[in-house]
Amino acid sequence: MAWTHEDRNWMHRAIALVREGEATKGINPIGCVIVRDGKVIGEGCNEVDLRHDATAHAEIVSMRRAGQTLQCGELRDAVLYTTMQPCGMCTLASVWAKIGRIVYGAGRDDVHEMYFGDRHLDTVDFIRDAFRDDLSLEGGLMAAECAALYVPPDAEVPEAEQFNR
Ligand SMILES: [Zn+2]
Repeated sequence: MAWTHEDRNWMHRAIALVREGEATKGINPIGCVIVRDGKVIGEGCNEVDLRHDATAHAEIVSMRRAGQTLQCGELRDAVLYTTMQPCGMCTLASVWAKIGRIVYGAGRDDVHEMYFGDRHLDTVDFIRDAFRDDLSLEGGLMAAECAALYVPPDAEVPEAEQFNR
């Protein structure tokens, strides 16, 4: 994948959001930036614990803010950058939001499985099966830098500490 300077710039921003969020209790380390016409229209981190809201993933939080920015729930031509491969919920929300392109950093195999709610669902299928055929999903941008934000795939994490159990 040939990433542009702009792609790297926005992923840097998503990673910076995670770093900034580390200081706030309840903010979890997934960062997302939604860009349109070269400008950020919505951004945020995972706020599930902050808001006591299971749907407050970084991508959903950012989509809500982008909707407020545009005063429109459709985010056509927007690009969503996220530090980790979006889950099924966020991928389908992107489909509904008419986002044009999803770019993620760390992929499923780069991080511990506790970050995902499903065992092997591949969100690429969601994109492939969507009625829209103008949505792209591209992964691996600054994958190493993004993966470094998370528990690695082979780490021994007690079951009680895994958030998807
Ligand atoms: Zn999600």
